[in-house]
Amino acid sequence: MEKNSSGKQRIAKAGALLCPTCCVEYVEIEFDFEVEGVILYNVKALRCPDCEEEIFTPQQVETIKKEVNYLNEVKAKKLER
Ligand SMILES: [Zn+2]
Repeated sequence: MEKNSSGKQRIAKAGALLCPTCCVEYVEIEFDFEVEGVILYNVKALRCPDCEEEIFTPQQVETIKKEVNYLNEVKAKKLER
């Protein structure tokens, strides 16, 4: 018995993420990103070419967190002097 198979099922390619709104594959972008007063250069994120919604993958979030922590440490050391 087929249950509710009228809608087409969209299968994401391995590693590809789809925008839930547009069902379009996100494209990778790079930009400068300011967070907590520090600027990160060439941060990678994903952007939907249709609605221009930008998201970070969990990996990218991790990378950003690490860089922010590192830069804040550097900043704190400079302020101590
Ligand atoms: Zn979209």
